[in-house]
Amino acid sequence: MTKVVVIGGGFGGLSAAIELANNGIEVDLIDPKDELGGKVATAEDKNGNRFDCGPTVVTLKDVFSNLFAKSNENIDEYVKFNKLDVIARHAWSPDEILDLFSDKQKSFEAVARFSSIAEAKNFREFSTLAQELFSVLEKTYMKCQKPNMLRMVKAIGFRGSKFLLQAGAFSSLWEKLERQFKDERLRQLFGRYATYCGSSPWEAPSTLMLIWDVEMQGVWSVDGGVINLARALKKLAIKKGVNIYKNFCEEILSYNGKITGVRLNNGDHILTDKIIFNGDFGDLDSYLVNHRIRKKNPYYSRKNRSLSAITLMTTTKTAGFKLSRHNIFFNSSYRQEFSDIFKKGKVPSEPTVYICAQDRLNDGSLTPGKDERLFLLINAPPNGDFATISKSEMETCQASVFSLLEKCGLKIDEPKRELCTMTPQTFHTRFPGTGGALYGRPTHGWLSPFTRPSSRSKISGLYLSGGSVHPGPGLPMATISGQLAAEALMEDLGLINQ
Ligand SMILES: Cc1cc2nc3c(=O)[nH]c(=O)nc-3n(C[C@H](O)[C@H](O)[C@H](O)COP(=O)(O)OP(=O)(O)OC[C@H]3O[C@@H](n4cnc5c(N)ncnc54)[C@H](O)[C@@H]3O)c2cc1C
Repeated sequence: MTKVVVIGGGFGGLSAAIELANNGIEVDLIDPKDELGGKVATAEDKNGNRFDCGPTVVTLKDVFSNLFAKSNENIDEYVKFNKLDVIARHAWSPDEILDLFSDKQKSFEAVARFSSIAEAKNFREFSTLAQELFSVLEKTYMKCQKPNMLRMVKAIGFRGSKFLLQAGAFSSLWEKLERQFKDERLRQLFGRYATYCGSSPWEAPSTLMLIWDVEMQGVWSVDGGVINLARALKKLAIKKGVNIYKNFCEEILSYNGKITGVRLNNGDHILTDKIIFNGDFGDLDSYLVNHRIRKKNPYYSRKNRSLSAITLMTTTKTAGFKLSRHNIFFNSSYRQEFSDIFKKGKVPSEPTVYICAQDRLNDGSLTPGKDERLFLLINAPPNGDFATISKSEMETCQASVFSLLEKCGLKIDEPKRELCTMTPQTFHTRFPGTGGALYGRPTHGWLSPFTRPSSRSKISGLYLSGGSVHPGPGLPMATISGQLAAEALMEDLGLINQ
């Protein structure tokens, strides 16, 4: 019987392991962390309150439900999702607040009130474009093992290709938004979707507008936090017979240029000729100790990294601004933010601030009188392996964050006393070889979605999954990547047809 070793228990590793186990393959999954889920994790603030400290926005629920259904299980028996009415609340000042909804008509009316009827019409056109783009790219790109421009054009045909040209597929997201909206604030709002792939709206391709459609299809909260989705995946993996080892893989072993197994931090060896690597692709080199396989791995420039983040967590009281579950506070100098990060490698002086109000219910309500858990995130440069943020830089950064919130009317009761902070350095320690970059390589340039590593590495027997490989970052995409890696591996074993 074939044994496969999966290195890493992020969503890409877990989904690969489940898919393989469903097909009768013996799987050993290795991850040193106490909880599986990788970037999906919790942290504790100084008062002992636990937070989701990784992903908070759950989209494309079907990707997870389908994985359970393929395993003859019902996801609802493992974890409870709640679809949010308000996708996100966006604020520029106390008088400039825009909610977007999963209900298209409600969003249309909100944009009309916030901006103008003309912009609401532009918004409707943009939403339709995003929707069509998603349906064109879902099968031909996202769920395809190694998408290639020519094959994709063939699959979508003349009409599809014409549509991609009309959608401005060769321009940057920002260029597209400049043509679409007159209102700078709407450009900012939709440009921010580039950051979901750790990228700058000025460099990301306009095709990333499809993320708006992904959100329109639904944003969910998970009872007990996103960590419960990771726990559900782990439970499913165990039920399907996956063996889980709490170890770190120190080396991918090889002989004569062929994979032969892994060496763990406790000295144990597991022999296998099939491995799925779920760590960051930028870190793969460090496990390929033998130069005969190492030289087959393509050179990976550590300069080409996606965004990192600074996150702040606090349990506190708020006033002056009614928070929804997901809230975004915008500054006026949006372009400067990306120039600070990608060109100057510094923490932005005027960052956009995302707040997940983790105790808010679907209608935005909160148990009266209770303190609430807030998770704040700003974008930061991915240089956690060679730069440190000094105490004074952090103080300046926090002052800038809280002054923006106050400008928008949100008062946070004595936050500094209780802050629990993560920086690019923290993320680099948690995800080695990344510098704290959270999304693999940035999606910069219209060709970049086609240049991500795909399921099959250049080394025979070594497969790749996770947010740093195709189809890209985010929980649903990492989950799809795991399934694609399992599929490629089973094809090579002759268990399924190519
Ligand atoms: C702060 C933050 C906010 C985010 N927000 C969102 C969001 O709202 N919505 C969304 O969809 N996505 C979000 N993301 C992105 C999303 O979390 C990731 O794209 C996704 O979780 C990546 O999954 P992965 O499969 O690549 O594995 P990862 O989560 O990267 O996990 C990889 C695992 O591999 C293990 N590993 C690595 N090397 C080894 C080794 N040598 N031996 C053993 N184990 C190893 C690690 O311990 C880790 O557990 C966010 C990420 C962060 C950090």
